[in-house]
Amino acid sequence: MSGFFDVTIVGGSAIGGASAAECARRGLSTVILEEDPVVGKFRRCTSICSESGLRSTGIPFSEATLNYINGAVIHSQNEDLTLKLREKKAIVFDRQVFDERSVSRAVSAGAELRLGSRVTSFRANNLSTSEGSIGAKVIVGADGVASSTAAAYQFPVIKRFVYCYEAEISNADVAHKDLVEVFFDNRMLPGFFGWIVPVDEKTARVGFGVDDPSKMMRAKNDFFSRKEVSPYKSGDTVRDFHASIPARPRASTQKGNVILVGDAAGQTKSTTGGGLVFGSLCAKEAGASIAGHLSDGKELDYEKRWRSKYGLTLSLHRNLRRLADRMDDSLIDAALSLNRNPLSLSLLSRFGDMDFLFRF
Ligand SMILES: Cc1cc2nc3c(=O)[nH]c(=O)nc-3n(C[C@H](O)[C@H](O)[C@H](O)COP(=O)(O)OP(=O)(O)OC[C@H]3O[C@@H](n4cnc5c(N)ncnc54)[C@H](O)[C@@H]3O)c2cc1C
Repeated sequence: MSGFFDVTIVGGSAIGGASAAECARRGLSTVILEEDPVVGKFRRCTSICSESGLRSTGIPFSEATLNYINGAVIHSQNEDLTLKLREKKAIVFDRQVFDERSVSRAVSAGAELRLGSRVTSFRANNLSTSEGSIGAKVIVGADGVASSTAAAYQFPVIKRFVYCYEAEISNADVAHKDLVEVFFDNRMLPGFFGWIVPVDEKTARVGFGVDDPSKMMRAKNDFFSRKEVSPYKSGDTVRDFHASIPARPRASTQKGNVILVGDAAGQTKSTTGGGLVFGSLCAKEAGASIAGHLSDGKELDYEKRWRSKYGLTLSLHRNLRRLADRMDDSLIDAALSLNRNPLSLSLLSRFGDMDFLFRF
């Protein structure tokens, strides 16, 4: 099946769906090309976001919601700090359902979805797929961290990644159903952190990330030996996976009429690795910019738009990550024990929006 469209989106997951919805609802002929026979990331994601962040994506998430979180237990090598927020702040959800809602929202807005359609070659405004060739006025690469679109159009490479492992474990005794547990230990987990995210009383997503793939094996042994994590070894592993997260955006995400959105662009938070909220917000900017260009003859100003709206926040996340990476483990211990006073706890519990760091 061939064709010519205003906009061709490479990748039918959360951000491809969000980009397509923004284009289609503005009346642009839009096609999503997804290589797999079904949409989505097959749950290779922890899938926790702040409720306000999820709302800002515009993607319906109520049917995907699995659990509500209202705080965290933060562990360092030798200390821990429990932080309870006044309200439920974050939602744990089913990523597959979320991705499907994102893409079906685009289809309802008029986008065409082609499954099993892997883009194999990119030449100017023409894409070859297993199903035929597609022409487009604008090409949107929403094809994830290993973006073929970015490689084909020679976008600058992403310079830093976080390498992760996660298992969803059931039949476990989850210590806190409404608190996430996070583990900061720069010796064990250099460049990132570990997590236990509860799905319900018996199920949790347990994982970690490091800054170098050669450190994975040792990190996995050490992390699963921690006293808070080792009980999960006797649960049942429902699924597990290795995956990487871009730790910073590409130096450029627009070349002529080709743009990159989501993980393909590196639009993730360096602090937590979350990419769904900012990817979706940048998809909105993509839709507005493409429509302005194709319908009103304006400059395609996607790169300018998303950087001016979200560049500063993402760079604050990067600076916080750099700071955390440089912290000695004894300093992290000290920081946690110092924060265990009523004033900082109440301040911290107001400081609770995980996506927009400085919004109370
Ligand atoms: C361990 C881990 C935990 C995470 N936890 C969270 C979290 O809790 N919260 C959060 O916000 N983010 C989280 N993230 C990040 C989040 O998963 C990503 O930011 C998000 O998946 C980005 O979505 P995307 O649509 O850009 O890319 P993807 O979801 O990777 O989708 C890319 C799509 O493109 C398709 N594709 C690729 N190449 C082609 C091609 N040539 N032709 C056609 N189709 C193609 C793929 O099949 C796929 O469907 C996590 C990531 C990891 C690794």
